[in-house]
Amino acid sequence: MSLQKWTEMIEKRGDRKYNAYYYSFEPTGDEDIDLLLASFALAGKLAHHTENWSDDRDWSEHYGAAPATQIQALANQLAAKRYNEPCWDCGRTDLPLHVDYRCPECHEPGDDDDG
Ligand SMILES: [Zn+2]
Repeated sequence: MSLQKWTEMIEKRGDRKYNAYYYSFEPTGDEDIDLLLASFALAGKLAHHTENWSDDRDWSEHYGAAPATQIQALANQLAAKRYNEPCWDCGRTDLPLHVDYRCPECHEPGDDDDG
């Protein structure tokens, strides 16, 4: 399985990388989250029915593995990366961070709101 093939196919899509077939996304400006959005868009472009995102056709040559497999692998990788980043308030690195980059002990509900 190659996540590299998957991300290369996303980059090749250029300006269309957030467009699926029936829907599209707006990038958030967060590189990791945008890569996940682009992955869902690519999956939607490749197979209109989600039942085909994990089917047994041979995805390996161009995409490394089936879309569902690649989205899961990418999410795991990004979560692991985020898990090891220090909390912006206390600096601890042993807990998964909330989207505001604060550990569960420093995170306050409502902090996720924009603005
Ligand atoms: Zn903290």
